[in-house]
Amino acid sequence: MIKVQNLTKRYGSVTAVNEIQFEVGKGEIVGFLGPNGAGKSTTMRMLSCYLPPTSGTAEIAGYDIFRDSLRAREHIGYMPENVPLPQDMRVDEYLRFRAALKGVPGRRIKERLADVCELCSLNDVSRKLIGALSKGYRQRVGLADAMIHEPELLILDEPTIGLDPNQIRQVRDLIRNLRRHHTILLSTHILSEVEMTCTRVIIINKGRIEVSDTPENLRSRL
Ligand code: ADP
Ligand code: ADP
Repeated sequence: MIKVQNLTKRYGSVTAVNEIQFEVGKGEIVGFLGPNGAGKSTTMRMLSCYLPPTSGTAEIAGYDIFRDSLRAREHIGYMPENVPLPQDMRVDEYLRFRAALKGVPGRRIKERLADVCELCSLNDVSRKLIGALSKGYRQRVGLADAMIHEPELLILDEPTIGLDPNQIRQVRDLIRNLRRHHTILLSTHILSEVEMTCTRVIIINKGRIEVSDTPENLRSRL
């Protein structure tokens, strides 16, 4: 589903991501783990076709993320670290708007809205203004947005950051649920988070990949 080769991003003299290489197979949940500044967000943004790399290549579902970015995007649902959401729109209005923007056919929008509201447990708040929601609910709106066009791949940047333990548990359960239908790449700086959700962990530090292994093997190495 994802194939990354020698991917590099420099910002001026800073090398944020340095010649990384990895693959993610269909149905995997891969945790991208590393401290602040390791290069996680930069990698996620490149793979979501938001940020051009300095060098290297990546394919999503067989499409080159730069030469074929429009095609690649149809297969990607991206949730950035701080989802920019309009405060004065209702949840259902916003998701309908996003669906249309992403090219979901008009006749399918109602059904997709119902599906993502169900999956992301948004039914109780779908007619509320986004500005009136708690952070945990806003996070779920971000997730619903990322999946509204039925992408096979979800790229989630720090999906639980800033949430309280209860909300973290809910988002984690939700992600585990999504696994049946999606391949997932999620970033975090918290080891326990990837241990509980992921089939594989990739550790990135100072822009370089240090380890790629199962959570069990990682634990026994520590
Ligand atoms: P992480 O998500 O792991 O915290 P980032 O990908 O955000 O790491 O950042 C990796 C490195 O790139 C850091 O040193 C950061 O300061 C730098 N960086 C990120 N974005 C920019 C930018 N837009 N301009 C300059 N430097 C940046
Ligand atoms: P912008 O450059 O203004 O962020 P784009 O023209 O790149 O917007 O993309 C069009 C719309 O599709 C935007 O609303 C953007 O948020 C959304 N989008 C772009 N890339 C992705 C992606 N990989 N996954 C989900 N939505 C995306």
